[in-house]
Amino acid sequence: MKLEILIQSLQHWHKESRIQHEWKSNSPYQAWVVETILQQTKVAQGGPYINRFLQRFPDVSSLARAAVDEVLQVWEGLGYYRRAHLMHQAAKVVEKKGQWPQTKEEWLNLPGIGPYSAGALASFVNNENCPAIDGNVIRVFSRWYDLATDPYRAEGKRHLNSLVENHLTYCHANQYNQIIMDFGSNICKPKSPLCNACVAQVYCKSYKERTIENRPIKKIKRPKAHRYFILYWHVNESRQLGMVKREAKDIWQGLWTLPYQEIEMARWKSVQEEINALTHRQTLSHQYINTVVLQKKTPTCLSIDIHHIDLADAILLPMDRSTRQYIDHLAKDYALRGRA
Ligand code: SF4
Repeated sequence: MKLEILIQSLQHWHKESRIQHEWKSNSPYQAWVVETILQQTKVAQGGPYINRFLQRFPDVSSLARAAVDEVLQVWEGLGYYRRAHLMHQAAKVVEKKGQWPQTKEEWLNLPGIGPYSAGALASFVNNENCPAIDGNVIRVFSRWYDLATDPYRAEGKRHLNSLVENHLTYCHANQYNQIIMDFGSNICKPKSPLCNACVAQVYCKSYKERTIENRPIKKIKRPKAHRYFILYWHVNESRQLGMVKREAKDIWQGLWTLPYQEIEMARWKSVQEEINALTHRQTLSHQYINTVVLQKKTPTCLSIDIHHIDLADAILLPMDRSTRQYIDHLAKDYALRGRA
């Protein structure tokens, strides 16, 4: 099959498939918010966050003027909190400059924008004919061309980029990037691709060579590390809860948490054996975070800056998932006791 015919078939498939893009917009602000949130979550989970974010910060000025805590509050539960900080910084840059980026290069200069987002935004918002290479594009092209080079390393990236650019001589990126993203998520899916319903089957080398399972070639995954934390729950006589703000460049940067102590695995095991306490495990991209909550004052030997916050206000702070779970559980009990 010739490339021209492949692209016409894809355009026809896309038109017929009538895939809805609820948040698609030419507004750079909305396009940027949607791209950023959907980078780390699927539409089903990310949708409510997009709606909440756009409602709370309807334009770039409202986002730039907001306190970072307000941004984190809306972001809470999405993970990758650094992205929320970078969005806040980017909003300030745009607000100060008084205009949005006009090219892919200018998008790349904004905090938090990588090559994929820059390509997607420049093609959708600025109509620039440039590639936007995400996981979908990598998978689809690796299968069409049966690529045996690692698409995440320099040589593989260059090759992939040149193949996509060649496609863009037949169809403008404004349309093409959306078609490939939709084709990747609806037909050429990571697991069980719908080869029998695929308009590109004749063009697909991996289909012919029976290498689909191995394309794209797998990244070598490092095993995830485990980290262990004791959290301390203590409400004083004035019904104030001890809380800590995590400022370090580490997990949960900028979020509030119960006062904590990081411990080794051996101690973790003994803490679990000694007491019947609440535990929680959170899976992040590179590590597992194991927490246990003890209902007692934070030991004074831990030199951390504890803020005493009214329970009713503490509940409203942006916080990590473990702390949120413990607070939801334990604060309820406190509220009942307070009314008794
Ligand atoms: S034939 Fe299968 S593997 Fe090849 S592009 Fe189509 S869906 Fe993907």
